[in-house]
Amino acid sequence: MSMADAATKRGHIVMIPCMAHGHIIPFLALARLIQQRTNFTITTANTPLNIQYLRSALSSSSQIRLAELPFDAIQHGLPPNIENSENLPLARIIHLFHSSLSLEAPLHSLVSQITQEEGQPPLCIISDLFLSWANNVAKSLGTRNLTFTTGGAYGTLAYISMWSNLPQRKTDSDEFWVPGFPQNFRFHRTQLHRYLRAADGTDEWSRFLIPQIALSMESDGWICNTAEEIEPLGLQLLRKYLGVPVWSVGPVLPPDTLRGSKHRAGKEPGMALEVCMEWLDLKDENSVVYISFGSQNTISASQMMALAEGLEESGRSFIWVIRPPFGVDMNGEFREEWLPTGFEKRMKDTKRGLLVHKWGPQLEILSHRSTGAFLSHCGWNSVLESLSNGVPIIGWPLAAEQAYNVKMLVEEMGVAVELTRTVESVISGEQVRKIIEIVMDRQGKGKEMKEKANEVAAHMRNATKENDQEKGSSVRAMDDLVRNIFSSKAL
Ligand code: UDP
Repeated sequence: MSMADAATKRGHIVMIPCMAHGHIIPFLALARLIQQRTNFTITTANTPLNIQYLRSALSSSSQIRLAELPFDAIQHGLPPNIENSENLPLARIIHLFHSSLSLEAPLHSLVSQITQEEGQPPLCIISDLFLSWANNVAKSLGTRNLTFTTGGAYGTLAYISMWSNLPQRKTDSDEFWVPGFPQNFRFHRTQLHRYLRAADGTDEWSRFLIPQIALSMESDGWICNTAEEIEPLGLQLLRKYLGVPVWSVGPVLPPDTLRGSKHRAGKEPGMALEVCMEWLDLKDENSVVYISFGSQNTISASQMMALAEGLEESGRSFIWVIRPPFGVDMNGEFREEWLPTGFEKRMKDTKRGLLVHKWGPQLEILSHRSTGAFLSHCGWNSVLESLSNGVPIIGWPLAAEQAYNVKMLVEEMGVAVELTRTVESVISGEQVRKIIEIVMDRQGKGKEMKEKANEVAAHMRNATKENDQEKGSSVRAMDDLVRNIFSSKAL
């Protein structure tokens, strides 16, 4: 079937992202990409408060339908009105994960209702890797399930293989091989999050993730937020491991309409966008270090102190999205005692550093010409946002698959150096200063990393290029995905 044919055919797709903004936003972007090239009806299902957020983020003219799945946080031992991973400490996110199992029955009802009304089941369900129980719904109602992993190919493979195989338990050595990777590849125990290091198959993380990952392997295909040119190895390995089609349609970045708006993740920025931009406008090109640990992580109090000391000693300009340290309410009030005496005032008076409390306009900062490096936890969205702007990365992975992302950024792409790992490590201001010097250096390694980051940015632009003459690899993959979704109807 040609793209023109696919564009005129009707059909229905149901999408269900995990209850986290870092997942909902790429799902929304994927829905728009599908919608741009088809006549499919797209229904995005989620819990009531996440639907409320989606409603506020979508323009009133959007054709994407929203379906509320009943959910009662209290019944699952969660604080009232908590339906999203933000505002939950990491230790409790697993409870949100377990509670998501209760959405299987309402999703089943929704898909049955669509089937009844339309006389046929939807063309497919596109579910988040973490909600792979959607495979049960798809199978029982005669449709297919595609998994959308909002991570990269390499990081996703490492994550699913580590949790399914628990390879660290099969050796006493600190370094070990992970199934799915070449025999000579080694991962290090310190790259595992403490929950994975402690996992034995019976803990609450294993009890959720192992069956969900097993179910995800039953999906008819996977959609990955990456591009052939930027992750050739990761995609090759992921395809071999899964044995089903993998469409690399990325980078799927937040739609323009969500840029700079508080609707982006339903959060009020800690500082007006204009103030950040004016501050950056005063700085030289590539001279500013941007620091942020994503939407749900923070570092320890001693690490925060060392980071501040290192930043001050480096003499470089910086914007730091700062939150209370680990162990304290991350969304609570910030206390001066967590930073060296007089630090914030000194940085303000000298215009050396801008502290943005809680939430910053990340995309706008990364795309500003003054931003020269990103000290990041290396969540996949942050990685894509940084590299699409040619900004090299200082990695400080804290959770999920972030340490595997850093390994790939360092070893495969050459666009990053790693400062430290996890919230438990001990670091010094001197370490911070040194690594900032390496990355910001206009010669040597810093120059090399910048050039490589610019190359990755060019690959990303090429992958998503679409004009009369040419279609990039991710655009072609999107076309193929849509054709595949439609033709599956006949199967
Ligand atoms: N983000 C932001 N401002 C912040 C922190 C995060 O806009 O102060 C956005 C960031 O641009 C990215 C997302 O939140 O799109 C974080 O996703 P990522 O995958 O990097 O990490 P996660 O939050 O899922 O750990």
